[in-house]
Amino acid sequence: MSEKPFWETLAPGEMTREQWESLCDGCARCCLHKLEDAYGGGIYYTQVACHLLDETSCRCSHYETRQTLVPDCVVLAPDDRDNLAWLPDTCAYRLIDAGKPLPEWHPLVTGDPQSVHLAGISVRGRTISENDVDDDDLEEHIIRWVSNTQP
Ligand code: SF4
Ligand code: SF4
Repeated sequence: MSEKPFWETLAPGEMTREQWESLCDGCARCCLHKLEDAYGGGIYYTQVACHLLDETSCRCSHYETRQTLVPDCVVLAPDDRDNLAWLPDTCAYRLIDAGKPLPEWHPLVTGDPQSVHLAGISVRGRTISENDVDDDDLEEHIIRWVSNTQP
């Protein structure tokens, strides 16, 4: 009988930092600008990405110093369950928090870091840098391929 993987047996607070960070599928959806409906109608994702996002690898180009360079970049912590609702529905941190399994395309499941791209989940090839978009025009860049269902 095969052993269950760590994400099915350990609570977030019991995971090592390495395990916790490996839950991130590398989609970079969280690096997109979002607009919040002022009347409680939810969060809308745009195709406009943080200027530090490497659009090819979908990785942060300055991961270790990101919070200094982008002060509103959110670092997810295992004990911060109240700060997950803004993430996309596909995000592993939301799924784990909701007691759901990781999707079949998740790199931890496939063993292949490329599977998130091959499944069309990552933002690769679908973004515009924030450097090229005026803040006032963000609404024009709302996308439908990232959903955020409020819990
Ligand atoms: S949305 Fe979640 S899984 Fe995707 S890159 Fe961001 S933290 Fe990682
Ligand atoms: S600083 Fe890096 S991790 Fe944070 S939003 Fe920008 S690209 Fe993403």
